Amino acid sequence: MEDKDKASPLKGLAWVIVAIGIAAVFGFGITPFVRAIPWSLEKNVSGFLGSTSTVNVCQGSPKNKILLNQIVSRLYPLDHDDSRFSVNVQIVNNPTINAFAELGGKISLTRGLLEKAQSPEEIAGVLAHEMTHVSRRHILEGFITHLMTWGGVQMISGSSSSMRWTNYFLNMGFTRTQETESDEGALRRLQKAHISNDGFKEFFERMKESTSISAFISDHPSDQSRLEMVEKYRNEEPKPIMTKDEWMAFKAYCQ
Ligand SMILES: [Zn+2]
Repeated sequence: MEDKDKASPLKGLAWVIVAIGIAAVFGFGITPFVRAIPWSLEKNVSGFLGSTSTVNVCQGSPKNKILLNQIVSRLYPLDHDDSRFSVNVQIVNNPTINAFAELGGKISLTRGLLEKAQSPEEIAGVLAHEMTHVSRRHILEGFITHLMTWGGVQMISGSSSSMRWTNYFLNMGFTRTQETESDEGALRRLQKAHISNDGFKEFFERMKESTSISAFISDHPSDQSRLEMVEKYRNEEPKPIMTKDEWMAFKAYCQ
Protein backbone atom coordinates (compact mmCIF):
# COMPACT_ATOMS: atom_id res chain seq x y z
CA MET A 1 0.00 0.00 0.00
CA GLU A 2 1.29 3.48 -0.85
CA ASP A 3 1.90 6.02 1.89
CA LYS A 4 -0.75 8.26 0.36
CA ASP A 5 -3.40 5.55 0.80
CA LYS A 6 -2.23 4.70 4.28
CA ALA A 7 -2.61 8.29 5.43
CA SER A 8 -6.19 8.79 4.22
CA PRO A 9 -8.05 7.50 7.32
CA LEU A 10 -6.09 9.91 9.49
CA LYS A 11 -6.81 12.72 7.04
CA GLY A 12 -10.53 11.94 7.42
CA LEU A 13 -10.13 11.93 11.16
CA ALA A 14 -8.20 15.20 11.08
CA TRP A 15 -11.24 17.01 9.65
CA VAL A 16 -13.44 15.44 12.28
CA ILE A 17 -11.02 16.60 14.98
CA VAL A 18 -11.06 20.17 13.61
CA ALA A 19 -14.89 20.15 13.70
CA ILE A 20 -14.92 18.71 17.22
CA GLY A 21 -12.25 21.22 18.33
CA ILE A 22 -14.47 24.07 17.13
CA ALA A 23 -17.46 22.54 18.94
CA ALA A 24 -15.35 22.27 22.11
CA VAL A 25 -14.24 25.91 21.79
CA PHE A 26 -17.88 26.99 21.59
CA GLY A 27 -18.62 25.06 24.76
CA PHE A 28 -20.51 22.07 23.38
CA GLY A 29 -19.59 18.68 24.80
CA ILE A 30 -17.77 16.52 22.26
CA THR A 31 -19.64 13.28 23.09
CA PRO A 32 -22.56 13.68 20.61
CA PHE A 33 -20.11 14.59 17.83
CA VAL A 34 -17.93 11.56 18.50
CA ARG A 35 -20.97 9.28 18.49
CA ALA A 36 -21.95 10.61 15.06
CA ILE A 37 -18.62 9.52 13.52
CA PRO A 38 -19.22 6.55 11.20
CA TRP A 39 -18.04 3.21 12.56
CA SER A 40 -16.25 2.60 9.24
CA LEU A 41 -13.97 5.59 9.94
CA GLU A 42 -13.08 4.21 13.39
CA LYS A 43 -12.32 0.82 11.79
CA ASN A 44 -10.12 2.47 9.17
CA VAL A 45 -8.15 4.45 11.74
CA SER A 46 -7.73 1.26 13.78
CA GLY A 47 -6.42 -0.53 10.67
CA PHE A 48 -4.07 2.37 10.00
CA LEU A 49 -2.58 2.23 13.51
CA GLY A 50 -1.88 -1.43 12.92
CA SER A 51 -2.76 -4.59 14.67
CA THR A 52 -1.63 -3.57 18.10
CA SER A 53 -2.10 -6.52 20.41
CA THR A 54 -1.61 -9.44 18.08
CA VAL A 55 1.93 -10.24 19.25
CA ASN A 56 1.04 -12.21 22.34
CA VAL A 57 -2.36 -13.56 21.39
CA CYS A 58 -3.03 -17.02 22.82
CA GLN A 59 -4.10 -19.39 20.07
CA GLY A 60 -6.28 -21.65 22.24
CA SER A 61 -7.26 -25.21 21.36
CA PRO A 62 -10.15 -25.66 18.87
CA LYS A 63 -12.38 -26.67 21.80
CA ASN A 64 -11.43 -23.57 23.80
CA LYS A 65 -12.01 -21.33 20.79
CA ILE A 66 -15.56 -22.70 20.65
CA LEU A 67 -15.97 -21.98 24.38
CA LEU A 68 -14.75 -18.39 23.95
CA ASN A 69 -17.25 -17.97 21.15
CA GLN A 70 -19.90 -19.47 23.41
CA ILE A 71 -19.40 -16.60 25.89
CA VAL A 72 -19.10 -13.86 23.27
CA SER A 73 -22.12 -14.99 21.23
CA ARG A 74 -24.32 -14.94 24.33
CA LEU A 75 -23.48 -11.22 24.66
CA TYR A 76 -23.18 -9.96 21.10
CA PRO A 77 -25.11 -9.31 18.91
CA LEU A 78 -28.23 -8.99 21.02
CA ASP A 79 -30.31 -6.38 19.24
CA HIS A 80 -30.31 -4.40 16.05
CA ASP A 81 -28.38 -1.53 17.65
CA ASP A 82 -25.44 -3.94 17.85
CA SER A 83 -25.11 -3.80 14.06
CA ARG A 84 -23.76 -0.24 14.46
CA PHE A 85 -20.42 -1.58 15.75
CA SER A 86 -18.45 -4.83 15.79
CA VAL A 87 -16.42 -6.68 18.41
CA ASN A 88 -13.54 -9.10 18.19
CA VAL A 89 -12.44 -10.75 21.46
CA GLN A 90 -9.02 -12.26 22.07
CA ILE A 91 -7.03 -13.55 25.04
CA VAL A 92 -3.48 -12.27 25.36
CA ASN A 93 -0.63 -14.05 27.10
CA ASN A 94 0.01 -11.53 29.85
CA PRO A 95 0.12 -12.36 33.59
CA THR A 96 -1.38 -9.06 34.80
CA ILE A 97 -5.11 -8.86 35.52
CA ASN A 98 -6.53 -6.64 32.83
CA ALA A 99 -9.08 -6.17 30.09
CA PHE A 100 -9.04 -3.43 27.51
CA ALA A 101 -10.70 -2.34 24.30
CA GLU A 102 -9.04 -0.66 21.33
CA LEU A 103 -10.40 1.38 18.44
CA GLY A 104 -12.48 -0.67 16.03
CA GLY A 105 -13.92 -3.04 18.65
CA LYS A 106 -10.95 -5.23 19.48
CA ILE A 107 -11.28 -6.42 23.09
CA SER A 108 -8.43 -8.17 24.90
CA LEU A 109 -8.60 -10.16 28.11
CA THR A 110 -5.34 -11.14 29.76
CA ARG A 111 -4.35 -14.65 30.81
CA GLY A 112 -4.00 -13.25 34.36
CA LEU A 113 -7.64 -12.15 34.35
CA LEU A 114 -8.80 -15.50 33.02
CA GLU A 115 -6.84 -17.34 35.71
CA LYS A 116 -8.23 -15.07 38.46
CA ALA A 117 -11.86 -15.37 37.32
CA GLN A 118 -13.99 -17.90 39.19
CA SER A 119 -16.77 -18.44 36.67
CA PRO A 120 -17.62 -17.82 33.01
CA GLU A 121 -20.22 -15.32 34.28
CA GLU A 122 -17.35 -13.19 35.65
CA ILE A 123 -15.69 -13.18 32.22
CA ALA A 124 -19.04 -12.30 30.64
CA GLY A 125 -19.41 -9.37 33.07
CA VAL A 126 -16.00 -7.94 32.12
CA LEU A 127 -16.66 -8.45 28.39
CA ALA A 128 -20.09 -6.81 28.59
CA HIS A 129 -18.45 -3.81 30.29
CA GLU A 130 -15.77 -3.50 27.57
CA MET A 131 -18.41 -3.93 24.83
CA THR A 132 -20.20 -0.87 26.19
CA HIS A 133 -16.97 1.17 26.05
CA VAL A 134 -16.88 0.19 22.36
CA SER A 135 -20.55 0.81 21.54
CA ARG A 136 -20.67 4.18 23.33
CA ARG A 137 -17.50 5.20 21.45
CA HIS A 138 -15.57 5.86 24.70
CA ILE A 139 -12.30 4.69 23.13
CA LEU A 140 -12.70 6.97 20.13
CA GLU A 141 -13.64 9.87 22.40
CA GLY A 142 -10.55 9.34 24.57
CA PHE A 143 -8.37 8.93 21.48
CA ILE A 144 -9.62 12.17 19.90
CA THR A 145 -9.25 14.07 23.17
CA HIS A 146 -5.69 12.76 23.40
CA LEU A 147 -4.91 13.79 19.81
CA MET A 148 -5.93 17.35 20.68
CA THR A 149 -3.15 17.51 23.29
CA TRP A 150 0.57 18.08 22.77
CA GLY A 151 1.23 14.47 23.81
CA GLY A 152 -1.10 13.32 21.06
CA VAL A 153 0.65 15.44 18.45
CA GLN A 154 3.99 13.97 19.48
CA MET A 155 2.54 10.48 19.35
CA ILE A 156 1.25 10.94 15.79
CA SER A 157 4.40 12.65 14.52
CA GLY A 158 6.79 10.16 16.16
CA SER A 159 7.67 6.79 14.71
CA SER A 160 4.44 4.83 14.55
CA SER A 161 5.37 1.77 16.54
CA SER A 162 2.41 -0.48 17.24
CA MET A 163 3.84 -1.15 20.73
CA ARG A 164 3.33 2.51 21.56
CA TRP A 165 -0.36 2.25 20.62
CA THR A 166 -0.78 -1.00 22.54
CA ASN A 167 0.54 0.72 25.67
CA TYR A 168 -1.70 3.69 25.04
CA PHE A 169 -4.90 1.60 24.83
CA LEU A 170 -3.78 -0.70 27.66
CA ASN A 171 -3.39 2.23 30.03
CA MET A 172 -6.24 4.33 28.71
CA GLY A 173 -8.26 5.91 31.47
CA PHE A 174 -11.98 6.60 31.33
CA THR A 175 -14.01 9.19 33.17
CA ARG A 176 -16.24 8.13 36.02
CA THR A 177 -19.28 9.00 33.87
CA GLN A 178 -18.02 6.67 31.15
CA GLU A 179 -17.35 3.89 33.67
CA THR A 180 -20.84 4.24 35.15
CA GLU A 181 -22.31 4.15 31.65
CA SER A 182 -20.32 1.01 30.86
CA ASP A 183 -21.36 -0.69 34.09
CA GLU A 184 -25.00 0.05 33.38
CA GLY A 185 -24.67 -1.02 29.74
CA ALA A 186 -22.99 -4.26 30.87
CA LEU A 187 -25.77 -5.04 33.34
CA ARG A 188 -28.47 -4.39 30.72
CA ARG A 189 -26.63 -6.66 28.29
CA LEU A 190 -26.23 -9.44 30.88
CA GLN A 191 -29.92 -9.23 31.73
CA LYS A 192 -30.90 -9.44 28.07
CA ALA A 193 -28.54 -12.40 27.61
CA HIS A 194 -30.05 -14.22 30.64
CA ILE A 195 -26.63 -14.35 32.28
CA SER A 196 -26.48 -14.02 36.08
CA ASN A 197 -24.96 -10.68 37.09
CA ASP A 198 -23.54 -12.14 40.31
CA GLY A 199 -20.35 -12.79 38.32
CA PHE A 200 -20.10 -9.11 37.40
CA LYS A 201 -20.61 -8.06 41.02
CA GLU A 202 -18.27 -10.63 42.54
CA PHE A 203 -15.42 -10.07 40.12
CA PHE A 204 -15.31 -6.30 40.59
CA GLU A 205 -15.70 -6.68 44.37
CA ARG A 206 -12.81 -9.13 44.55
CA MET A 207 -10.61 -6.97 42.35
CA LYS A 208 -11.18 -3.98 44.61
CA GLU A 209 -9.82 -5.94 47.54
CA SER A 210 -6.86 -7.20 45.56
CA THR A 211 -3.61 -5.36 46.10
CA SER A 212 -2.67 -5.43 42.41
CA ILE A 213 -5.54 -3.20 41.42
CA SER A 214 -5.69 -2.71 37.66
CA ALA A 215 -6.33 0.48 35.76
CA PHE A 216 -9.52 -0.94 34.33
CA ILE A 217 -11.34 -0.83 37.65
CA SER A 218 -9.69 2.28 39.05
CA ASP A 219 -12.44 4.82 38.46
CA HIS A 220 -15.65 2.93 38.79
CA PRO A 221 -18.78 4.16 40.54
CA SER A 222 -19.03 3.79 44.31
CA ASP A 223 -19.87 0.36 45.73
CA GLN A 224 -23.30 1.57 46.75
CA SER A 225 -24.35 2.80 43.33
CA ARG A 226 -22.98 -0.33 41.64
CA LEU A 227 -24.88 -2.57 44.04
CA GLU A 228 -28.07 -0.63 43.34
CA MET A 229 -27.49 -1.08 39.61
CA VAL A 230 -26.86 -4.82 40.05
CA GLU A 231 -30.19 -5.11 41.89
CA LYS A 232 -32.01 -3.07 39.26
CA TYR A 233 -30.88 -5.38 36.44
CA ARG A 234 -31.07 -8.66 38.35
CA ASN A 235 -31.86 -11.71 36.26
CA GLU A 236 -34.80 -13.80 37.37
CA GLU A 237 -34.02 -16.88 35.31
CA PRO A 238 -30.32 -16.94 34.40
CA LYS A 239 -29.10 -19.67 32.05
CA PRO A 240 -25.56 -21.05 32.57
CA ILE A 241 -22.92 -20.34 29.90
CA MET A 242 -20.97 -23.60 30.17
CA THR A 243 -20.51 -26.66 32.40
CA LYS A 244 -17.97 -26.81 35.27
CA ASP A 245 -15.72 -29.15 33.25
CA GLU A 246 -15.81 -26.83 30.25
CA TRP A 247 -14.93 -23.89 32.50
CA MET A 248 -11.90 -25.72 33.95
CA ALA A 249 -10.71 -26.51 30.42
CA PHE A 250 -11.33 -22.92 29.28
CA LYS A 251 -9.20 -21.45 32.08
CA ALA A 252 -6.19 -23.17 30.50
CA TYR A 253 -6.78 -21.27 27.23
CA CYS A 254 -3.17 -20.02 27.00
CA GLN A 255 -1.45 -23.30 27.85
ZN1 LIG B 1 -14.12 0.44 32.11
